[in-house]
Amino acid sequence: MKRTMTLFIALAIALSMITTAFAGNLTVATDTNFPPFEFKDPKTGEHTGFDVELWAAIAKEIGVQYDLQPMAFKGIVPGLQSAQLDAGIAGMSITDKRKEVIDFSDGYYNSGLLLLVKADETAIKDIKTLDGKVIATKQGTTSVEFLKENANPKEVKLFPNDNAMFMELLTGGVDAVMFDKPVVESFVSKRGKGEVKIVGDLYAGQPYGIGFPKGSELVGKVNAALKTLKANGTYNALYKKWFGVEPR
Ligand code: GLN
Repeated sequence: MKRTMTLFIALAIALSMITTAFAGNLTVATDTNFPPFEFKDPKTGEHTGFDVELWAAIAKEIGVQYDLQPMAFKGIVPGLQSAQLDAGIAGMSITDKRKEVIDFSDGYYNSGLLLLVKADETAIKDIKTLDGKVIATKQGTTSVEFLKENANPKEVKLFPNDNAMFMELLTGGVDAVMFDKPVVESFVSKRGKGEVKIVGDLYAGQPYGIGFPKGSELVGKVNAALKTLKANGTYNALYKKWFGVEPR
């Protein structure tokens, strides 16, 4: 009887350790589609990209297990705010407004916003020439705020993902797209080649940061890991792999 009891207790302890290990997995959100930062690799069906691999390197550095959860971008800040997510790496711009509700790591990529039009567009030259025009961008992103504050378009059409937004420009449903520089540049050099062009300046220069619930103890650890990865060449190698150039 005593032996059975000891065995039972040992089993219970082992089980509880397993469940804690699983419960210990962090839930880390990423955008469904924000290439080359995150996108589904058609060959493997898995998410990959700069953000995905940078997070993998950070997690290894600080010794945490995690589940990657791709989701619509607009759900990430609310998910962090309610602490349903432990971290979010999704080309997320560090803004004062977001800093009121979530914490950010140090910046890990310098970005900004660009204006994209059809190759034969002549009237739209920059942010000041959008009066009466219809512009597309993605829900919950910094472009929405920027357009509200700096332009006077007839309408801003909001899309849940990048693909739909770019398609709308190609099919003539909107006059321009405003969105993040690396994603626009990637579209111009690949799928939109010859059909679209960038006009105006680089607007709203902002770094991307990794988001956390307010007060998360991960912030300090992730910042230390970022410093290590920059110093030991891992960050540089990932940057070159995904953007084809040295970090700038
Ligand atoms: N950088 C933009 C933002 O933070 C867009 C990010 C995204 O669409 N993944 O709002």
